[in-house]
Amino acid sequence: MYLDDSKITVIKIGSSLLIDENRKIRKKWLSSFASDIQKLKYKNQKIIIVSSGAIALGCKKMNFDKKDLKLDKSQAIASIGQIELMNLYSQTFSKFKLYISQILLTLEDTEERRRSLNAKRTFENLFELGFIPIVNENDTIATTEIKYGDNDRLASRVAQITNADTLILLSDVDGLYNKNPKIFKDAKLIKKVNDLKYDLKKINIKGVNEYGSGGMKTKLEAAKICQLSGCTMAIANGLNMSPISEIIKKNNCTWFISKISKLDARKKWIISSVAPKGELIIDDGAKKALKNGKSLLAAGIKKVSGKFKKGDHIIVLDKKNLECARGLSSFSSDEILKIMGHHSNEIQSLLGYIAKSEVIHKDDMVEV
Ligand code: GLU
Repeated sequence: MYLDDSKITVIKIGSSLLIDENRKIRKKWLSSFASDIQKLKYKNQKIIIVSSGAIALGCKKMNFDKKDLKLDKSQAIASIGQIELMNLYSQTFSKFKLYISQILLTLEDTEERRRSLNAKRTFENLFELGFIPIVNENDTIATTEIKYGDNDRLASRVAQITNADTLILLSDVDGLYNKNPKIFKDAKLIKKVNDLKYDLKKINIKGVNEYGSGGMKTKLEAAKICQLSGCTMAIANGLNMSPISEIIKKNNCTWFISKISKLDARKKWIISSVAPKGELIIDDGAKKALKNGKSLLAAGIKKVSGKFKKGDHIIVLDKKNLECARGLSSFSSDEILKIMGHHSNEIQSLLGYIAKSEVIHKDDMVEV
């Protein structure tokens, strides 16, 4: 069982586990979850919890309906609900002698390398102090453009930054099915996914995507980030009491097995970006060069899309629009528009200043 050998485990809790459809807080469930966490802590595991629920608990307190909230109002409601959320954890967990801290992240905290390293250090210091960090998105200031919007991808990025061995997404679905189980009686739960790209071809994704309140799409995106950064991930139904013990006992969930990652920490961070700013389409010659570990040069670029700055995360696609690499651009999108298709030694005269000769240097790029 993957959980047994995990040194750092991230567990994501969806709102529906904390609060039921009648807006009652599932206190017994939370106590059973705390007891599970206590067991993992006895085994010396380091635990991070990523918990939703700020907006749900804020709505409960104010007697609002989430559906009626505009963004600015929901930010205020999240601010009210976040304290309720942490109080709930603090009161329940202290009964099990578990001590918690709060970390609120925005997209930029993980997408900017320096800030992500700062966050990593804070997690490590909290581990040393024996505290359990509880993470949520900083909903009070995140607007649509700078928002994760879902805690699935946030949890996978936290797992990548902290070098976690395991991520468990606890929600109200059992896992990934080969077809939509609400429509097809013969839908089967997939227990293990070894290669996301290959295995997903066998699944009726359309039906599956429509299934589940949290959405399967963001969970599969989280799985992709985990597989590439060497973290094994599970999608499991957390509605049962003692959900972690349940996974250990019954294994009734979907495991996404990580690839053994040879990438260094910086390259793992590059490949796991949740918000690339733009795309480059390259020709076959450039694609071949990337496969051989070479940098991307201006000559092989056919098209630029998106607006990005030097240093931003971008995706590299081949002529068929298939992703072949991700990296940090050495030029802005406006500069690439001027130099694409040209030989590197023409860059200085095209731009009017001395610049790098690679559009994405091989050290800043990961082939996928
Ligand atoms: N951050 C949101 C909240 O705490 C939830 C986001 C999600 O459920 O994915 O209410």
